[in-house]
Amino acid sequence: MIVIKGIAASSGIAIGKAYVLEDEEIIVNRVELPRELLRAEVKRFKAAQKATHRDLDAAESKVLKLLGKKHAKLIDAHRLILRDVLITQDVPKRILGEGVNAEFALSEALEMVNQQFEKMEDEFFRERRHDLFDVGKRLLAHLLKQDKKDLADIDFNCVLIARNLLPSDTLGLHETKILGFATDLGGKTSHTAILAQSLEIPAVVGLSDISRRVRTGDQIILDGEQGMVIINPGPETIAKYQKAQQRSLQEERALEPLRGQPAVTLDGKAFHLEANLDSPDELKTVVALQTDGIGLFRTEYLFLNRQSPPDEEEQSRAYQQVVKSLEPRPVVIRTADIGGDRLSLLGIEGPKSETNPFMGLRGIRLFLRHTDLFKTQLRAILRSALKGKVKLLIPMVSSLGEVQGVRRLLAQAQSELQAEGVEAAGKVELGIMVEIPSAVLILEQLLPLIDFVSVGTNDLIQYTLAVDRINEHVTHLYDPFHPAVLRLLDQIVRTCRKKDKWVGICGEMASDPHAVPLLVGLGVDGLSVAPRMHLRIKQTLRALRFGAMQKLVQQALACPDSDEIKRLLSDQGL
Ligand code: PEP
Ligand code: MG
Repeated sequence: MIVIKGIAASSGIAIGKAYVLEDEEIIVNRVELPRELLRAEVKRFKAAQKATHRDLDAAESKVLKLLGKKHAKLIDAHRLILRDVLITQDVPKRILGEGVNAEFALSEALEMVNQQFEKMEDEFFRERRHDLFDVGKRLLAHLLKQDKKDLADIDFNCVLIARNLLPSDTLGLHETKILGFATDLGGKTSHTAILAQSLEIPAVVGLSDISRRVRTGDQIILDGEQGMVIINPGPETIAKYQKAQQRSLQEERALEPLRGQPAVTLDGKAFHLEANLDSPDELKTVVALQTDGIGLFRTEYLFLNRQSPPDEEEQSRAYQQVVKSLEPRPVVIRTADIGGDRLSLLGIEGPKSETNPFMGLRGIRLFLRHTDLFKTQLRAILRSALKGKVKLLIPMVSSLGEVQGVRRLLAQAQSELQAEGVEAAGKVELGIMVEIPSAVLILEQLLPLIDFVSVGTNDLIQYTLAVDRINEHVTHLYDPFHPAVLRLLDQIVRTCRKKDKWVGICGEMASDPHAVPLLVGLGVDGLSVAPRMHLRIKQTLRALRFGAMQKLVQQALACPDSDEIKRLLSDQGL
């Protein structure tokens, strides 16, 4: 029996056999295929070629629009490479001749040409190999994507073990036989972890080398509460965990009577307690929870795992379904926060090639660059606003100019819809995510342009403490109880109070029963929490006294470090 400690990313316990997912790079290794599968493998490669052609078409129209004809020539060069015999003939020949997988055949062919390029004297020609690899990478991305579908093909209940999982991988996991997952990489507030929580899939991340220590078929206990994985446990340990599984089920049942009850403190202060929605799969659960609304509808799921962005119709349908189900309660729809760890394959070059994507073209930055994508989403949201109470939320705001830009594009979208005679709301409330310290510092100047504020503590903590939220090496520094975080939150709430603007918290801190007493004491108006934590947070909140928490926060704000803040809380039994 081996016990490995990692980071608790999504609560719950999973007990089952391991399924070890091969590392991304290993997928490019040689896999010998039986003769009867080789034709299908060539077909799979051809499909990837076709998809890559489609990528290039999409990229070309974007480049043409943004940079003009001259730069669009680059795409022609890529098309030529894609039509080169190296791709169209050599790779299929290798698949059939050597009996290997398409990824391997392709990487071998690329490597051979690379060697020839390297020998060239002429720098211009030598540098053309980057174009070759660019095309190669696109092809590989398509081939690998098809491999990822295999997760749905796993035909036994298992605990997935992987080096890393992307948010897009996580999205479909609840439809598979995967009971939980453990990864070498990752942090507690990565989008992979947040999605796992939403989909109620137990997960432990940041386990360093678990993908090398476990073999498919090993017995695994995954403890999402303690952040622990046990490999090949004895029968006593299994029995202990089975009991714990039952206990937590009973605890959940005990919270049931809180459904529909108001989120009010013992001394009568009411809070708006909403839920976060990360994918429509959670909609039923959220409706059944009878929340005060949806405080954060993360719309990124619509943009993941596809080659082209969803059009206005598709988006509008998706939003309307949610808005109608919640009506008359409000739904805060956040425009897509693509970028960061939510890489997309939309043919947008920025997010794919950045070395530091969390500091890069993410959220509103990306949409103010690609205004066509942004306007499509705005139009769909305005249309859905006819069906109920919709508020619009903008992620990753860092400056006044961005909010002015949003206002301009929103007005454009509204007048275009009107001119076209499309039915849509004439007005929606506009809010911003405050999740970058610069937005906190200029909040007073931002507030006149907006109607409400939603604080994204996940990012606010990462950008304030300079701690990458998905990097397991600095997880110990990712600290919601750091006094700098508390003081920023206090500044946000006081500024909003002064200007009489609504302020809520939608980051994971609102779903942490230990942090909620502080958020209550700060005097926020609302909390939007992970659906599975909704009743638990309501229970916490209903056991607090607002007056006492206000005093407690004043003491906490004077603490020099997080240990003292935590001690203060635990001294009060919180
Ligand atoms: C946040 O940053 O706290 C937040 C709610 O947004 P996301 O986790 O989607 O970045
Ligand atoms: Mg955020």
